[in-house]
Formats: sequence, C-alpha cells, structure tokens
Amino acid sequence: MITNTTRRFWYALLSSIAFMVRYRYFKKWFWLPLLILAVGFLLPHSMIIPVKDANQSSWNKNSFWAYPWGSSITHKGIDIFAKKGTPVVAATYGIVVYTANSGKGGKSVMILGPKWRFHYYAHLNAIQTFPLKPIQQGEIIGTVGDTGNAKGKPPHLHYAITTPFPYISLRDKEAVQGWKKMFYLNPDTWLRPLESN
Ligand SMILES: [Zn+2]
Repeated sequence: MITNTTRRFWYALLSSIAFMVRYRYFKKWFWLPLLILAVGFLLPHSMIIPVKDANQSSWNKNSFWAYPWGSSITHKGIDIFAKKGTPVVAATYGIVVYTANSGKGGKSVMILGPKWRFHYYAHLNAIQTFPLKPIQQGEIIGTVGDTGNAKGKPPHLHYAITTPFPYISLRDKEAVQGWKKMFYLNPDTWLRPLESN
C-alpha cells in the first residue's frame, strides 16, 4: 500500500464528506471539506533546509529512491547529516499531525504543510514539539539524532515529503517501486538551488 499518512488522510476526507452528505443538518455543508482542500492547494509554498547550518553538501542528492535500502526497499527521502543535537527546523510552515517514538523512524515528527504535503522528520534525538501545534517555517521541532533504524549509523535527519494526491507525472516505469514515486516528492528538488550555467 501507500503510506499510512496517505491512507488516514483519505479516510478522514471521505468520511467527513460522507458524514455531511448523510445528515440533513450538515448536508448543505458538504462543500466545506472541498473548499478547505482547495484553499490548501492555493497556499504559497517555500522551503528551507530543515537542519540548522546545513548546506547542499550535507546530503547526497542521489540518495532519494536509492535501492536497495533494507526493509524500506527504496529510500523515500534524503538523509541530512549533522552532529547529534543540531536543531531540526521546520522546512515549511504547517501544523504538527503527529509525533512518534518508535518504529523505523525512531523519534519522528509529521507536519502537514501547504499544498497538502506531509513533511516527515525522523531519527530525532529529541522531539521539541507536540501534535496539532501550528508551526512557523524555521521553528525548531527537535534535534538530529540516530533513533529508530539509524541506530549505530552517523546521526542524520531522514527528511521525506509525501502527498496523498498522486503526481501522475512522477510515475517512474524504470525504478524499483517506481509507481510509488507519485506519492513521494524529492526534497532535493526544492532544497538545491537551480544550477546557474
Ligand atoms: Zn533516510
């Protein structure tokens, strides 16, 4: 399947529409979730590197979708290396959807940003935010660490962006799990300034 976040997002969206259509009192509001959706897509989007003092050489631009990548099969984000304890900052403004303390990501934070993109920050040493907190771009949400399956590896931030709305043009017939690329955006696209020639 796709990501848990994508699944939960569609479940919440479809059940809220179904709820509003079903009950007479809410029926006239069925367009509200659709309006909220539309507004989300219209919000302006900009990004910064989510680790303090990191630069373009802090990650390998070929690490996105690297294969093979252990139990994940392909690497669906980029790894930004930094000293343990370096502040992790929000790449975009948004709202914290959840924080987690276990699993492959270890201590991790999921933030919903503009355009219905979900930003995932994993392997944190410490989480310094909480669910439903509105977040400004650049706000500290935790620190770089080696939790989860990064244990024993150099500390780094695993940063991934998922979208519940597939970007059909990103489908890749060559790559392993290439169809999933519709649901994962490559952070390098925004974080690496356009090369001047
Ligand atoms: Zn990673």
